[in-house]
Amino acid sequence: MNKNSSNIMTLAPNTSNKRETVCIFGTGDFGRALGQKMIQSGYPVVYGSRSTQISNLIPKDAEVLGHAEAAQKAAIIIIAIQRQHYNFLMPLAEVLHGKVLVDISNNLKLNQYPESNAEYLAQLLPGSRVVKAFNTVSAWALQSGTLDASRQVFVCGDDVEAKQMVMDIVRALGLTPLDKGSLLAAQEIENYPLQLFPMWKFPVFLSLGLTVFFFLYCLALDIIYTYIYEKNNFSFFIAITIPNRVCPVMALILLALVYLPGVFAAIIQLYRGTKYQRFPDWLDKWMLCRKQLGLIALAFASLHAVFTLVSPMRAFVSWRTGKGIISQALNNKTEPLNHTNAWLSDSYLALGILGYFLFVLLGITSLPSVSNNVNWREFRFVQSKLGYLTLILCTAHTLVYGGKWFLSPSAYKWYLPNIYMLSLVVPCAVLVVKFVLIFPCIDKPLTQIRQGWERNPKYSE
Ligand code: NAP
Repeated sequence: MNKNSSNIMTLAPNTSNKRETVCIFGTGDFGRALGQKMIQSGYPVVYGSRSTQISNLIPKDAEVLGHAEAAQKAAIIIIAIQRQHYNFLMPLAEVLHGKVLVDISNNLKLNQYPESNAEYLAQLLPGSRVVKAFNTVSAWALQSGTLDASRQVFVCGDDVEAKQMVMDIVRALGLTPLDKGSLLAAQEIENYPLQLFPMWKFPVFLSLGLTVFFFLYCLALDIIYTYIYEKNNFSFFIAITIPNRVCPVMALILLALVYLPGVFAAIIQLYRGTKYQRFPDWLDKWMLCRKQLGLIALAFASLHAVFTLVSPMRAFVSWRTGKGIISQALNNKTEPLNHTNAWLSDSYLALGILGYFLFVLLGITSLPSVSNNVNWREFRFVQSKLGYLTLILCTAHTLVYGGKWFLSPSAYKWYLPNIYMLSLVVPCAVLVVKFVLIFPCIDKPLTQIRQGWERNPKYSE
């Protein structure tokens, strides 16, 4: 019996809720929000402040003392003060010796100082154990409890034990610590909250530039040309007709641009005969933003679908249909069904629907919650194989629709090709090169290179 009970004692978890006191320097927005959260999680909190007067804003149950007195009460001190005031800590060096100092500060600009704030703090107080944490969490999120999107807390520091103590607090607050290594990582962690959609910049600017170009191109050919040479005022095309030409063109080109860097990479690897040389920077950056390019392409494709669905409601379309019926009535002649046209229009719609369905599937599988649940092979199957199938279907959809204009001289207004012809250049080039790359005589060496084989190995035995 005794033996059993001693086993149970050993296996039983430590249910004691007693937590170590935590000291927070600074009773500003962040200090108060973090203090409140810590008190809720069972930590006794003592503030170190320039003023020891208790105000209504300070969390109930927290003590407010002078800095030195407060620091003596805890092993962990959170510095909730801006970097430019860190000098005031120097006279406290003796009290802070051996203590864990948590730097939570952020800057106003990327790489504002030569060293990170946490490294600066460590230089000022070499006897303390500095850990960087909490800077990516906002005071507002801590207070309002809306931490669902940002539960991750980056932690870094040179002292493993100190880092562990801080990570335990992070976990106790219901957040997820992510160890980023030594204090050298602090600069990157401090830059993190200052970045504005870094991966989206290139795709967004590229899409904006191309959209403006194609919009002006259509404006010139569909409205200005028609007005000058045919004396027709189609200025209302600006609202739906031109956007519904630009959107599918953008969707197709951007989708092709998702697969173009992969084709470039394959050619470069084949040429070099190794995968152990870095790609040029521009190609690296392009590869990294393929997901964003694909999502913007999906947005354009969705707009195209909506514009097409509302098309029958347009006054211009009703007028054109009515005109056709009246002309048949006036001529007392019913036009026979053109089977070629019927086939073309049905195939065009079917290809569009299938292409869009796969497009949406690609978008869904790129969401982290979905991609985290599939293995690498499944992910590659969807993004590469189904991705190419989507590109084939969407290219065929455009070819079936615009193909009839290729040989028609009326399509070349001002000697310029129709927008649909322009849109096919990049996707067709990608598909043709990809087709060549899957020939066994090319695919085999490429696969070997990707598995580590080198044509001219640097380090041969
Ligand atoms: P804040 O509201 O301006 O509070 C800063 C506190 O620092 C003041 O309340 C004051 O506390 C103390 N202080 C000011 N001047 C001082 C001086 N000369 N000497 C000593 N102490 C001084 O700023 P905050 O928003 O809480 O931000 C504090 C730190 O947290 C910053 O480094 C910020 O980058 C970081 N942070 C903030 C957020 C946020 O959402 N606010 C998020 C992440 C990180 P006493 O009056 O009690 O002495």
